[in-house]
Amino acid sequence: MKTIGLLGGMSWESTVNYYRAINQGVKQALGGLHSAKIALYSVDFDPIEKLQHEGNWDEMAKILSEAAVGVQSAGADFLLICTNTMHKVAPQIEAAIDIPLLHIADAIAQASTQQTIQTVGLLGTAFTMEQDFYSGRLSENHGLTVLIPNDADRRIVHQVIYQELCLGKVEAKSKKEYLRIMDDLAGRGADAIILGCTEIGMLVQQTDTDIRLFDSTTIHAEKAVDYALK
Ligand code: GLU
Repeated sequence: MKTIGLLGGMSWESTVNYYRAINQGVKQALGGLHSAKIALYSVDFDPIEKLQHEGNWDEMAKILSEAAVGVQSAGADFLLICTNTMHKVAPQIEAAIDIPLLHIADAIAQASTQQTIQTVGLLGTAFTMEQDFYSGRLSENHGLTVLIPNDADRRIVHQVIYQELCLGKVEAKSKKEYLRIMDDLAGRGADAIILGCTEIGMLVQQTDTDIRLFDSTTIHAEKAVDYALK
């Protein structure tokens, strides 16, 4: 079994879910007392969040690249960045390490194309929904058409992530808003919705809607388990 490297803490609320999903996946595959071999570097999210909103991506690339080198030195055979947003600096992180990076958008795109999905709705932080590093990769590398919510709804989705979910708050009214926004994307032609933020699975699950959901945390964790056991 390979050692899985995790760059986490963004937020820790979602890293907990990665840790659980990966260990459950290994247990399911190998049985008994088997568990995943994991090297985790969990950052302090507060300065990262401030740098995000200041737009200082170079500084974040530096911080996360150093952390990734630490994960590699701790024995990881490959790396996962446990947040969609911070894949904005994935190229810099990848350049700093010698082990492979399992990109979250590739994992999601593979899961959707396996199910012959063509058009996806994307929910995530404003950075993920509005910038090209994520939807560009889905469309250019994987041929998906990506729909995002309108301006006002993107603001709601973004605020709920930072002001509630990353703080461990799961509010019924926010769930209702997310379900409304997802319905709107489906009405505009989305065959499925990507939960493109690793905390959204805390708020909405597949049992809440008939629209097909692709949860980035679950899919990324499954990919890690497959790769570790391959
Ligand atoms: N975990 C979130 C994501 O998947 C948001 C927190 C962050 O900005 O990293 O994008």
